[in-house]
Amino acid sequence: MSRIAFIGLGNMGGPMAANLLKSGHELRVFDLVPAAVEAAVAAGARAAGSAMDAVEAAEVVISMLPASRHVEALYLGTDGLLAAIPAGALIIDCSTIATASAKKVAGAAAERGLQLIDAPVSGGTAGAAAGTLTFIVGGDGAALERARPILQAMGKNIFHMGDAGAGQVAKLCNNMALGVIMAVTGEAIALGAAHGLDPKVLSQMMAVSTSRSWATEVCNPWPGVLENAPASRGYTGGFGNDLMLKDLNLAAEAAAGTGATIPLGELARNLYALNSNAGNGALDFSSVVKVFKRPELT
Ligand code: NAD
Repeated sequence: MSRIAFIGLGNMGGPMAANLLKSGHELRVFDLVPAAVEAAVAAGARAAGSAMDAVEAAEVVISMLPASRHVEALYLGTDGLLAAIPAGALIIDCSTIATASAKKVAGAAAERGLQLIDAPVSGGTAGAAAGTLTFIVGGDGAALERARPILQAMGKNIFHMGDAGAGQVAKLCNNMALGVIMAVTGEAIALGAAHGLDPKVLSQMMAVSTSRSWATEVCNPWPGVLENAPASRGYTGGFGNDLMLKDLNLAAEAAAGTGATIPLGELARNLYALNSNAGNGALDFSSVVKVFKRPELT
């Protein structure tokens, strides 16, 4: 069992930390939001007063933060964690960030003799709670083997995509496809509803037909179709629209200069931007259905 510092206990980090505790690991945790720390303490973690405190004597450091700027600010610079993490510790960054940022932080860690892997995840908050996440890893193979038992306490599938940053590229490919699929699923259900179809029956039909997907079966965007989906609890507690918009912006950045064309990804990026601009940025990304849905339809 390892002494783990866990930084970032949000919608994903909170349940991931809880699964590590259930597997018997010792956790020191930090988040800027005190309530998130309290929830982890209730699950058996020890609270740290800062990220710096959390990493003291840690064998493994895990971060699960919103975006590149948070990860760079956490690790780099004179006040950054890389200067404080004990020699020989392994760093696992599970945040979804820019490939360039992932490479930069991994490079700085290597200069200090620390191993770091980028290990963004897929599976959503339900997967984080159930311990069935997919880890999409970039970095040294030996570092991944060190991380494997820890990742297995939080997830079911582990893919090694290549060197530092490769996990982030693969994660963006997945999320670009997810963003497009969620948007078109909402568009299709809204079309059916505009014709008086019952969105629940329509979704049940789609879920066993050729358009079946995670968006129809697990995170259906229409309120009331799936009891446990964010749509049925006011679009709270899932994967934020602003986070999906961040990932689609990263996909556009990743495509630039490579010759890859991403017309559907670009269209989806604009749809999620419209949804954020309408005041829905903090809601689950399935709220993108609001772009298509006539407000009187429920
Ligand atoms: P979130 O906003 O719910 O949680 C992020 C947490 O980080 C917050 O609790 C915040 O207070 C904390 N934080 C920010 N800066 C910090 C700092 N300097 N020190 C300590 N804590 C800090 O986000 P989330 O949904 O948990 O997502 C986290 C990452 O995982 C993102 O990169 C996201 O793109 C990715 N992701 C999310 C989902 C999902 O379904 N929510 C799925 C896959 C991947």
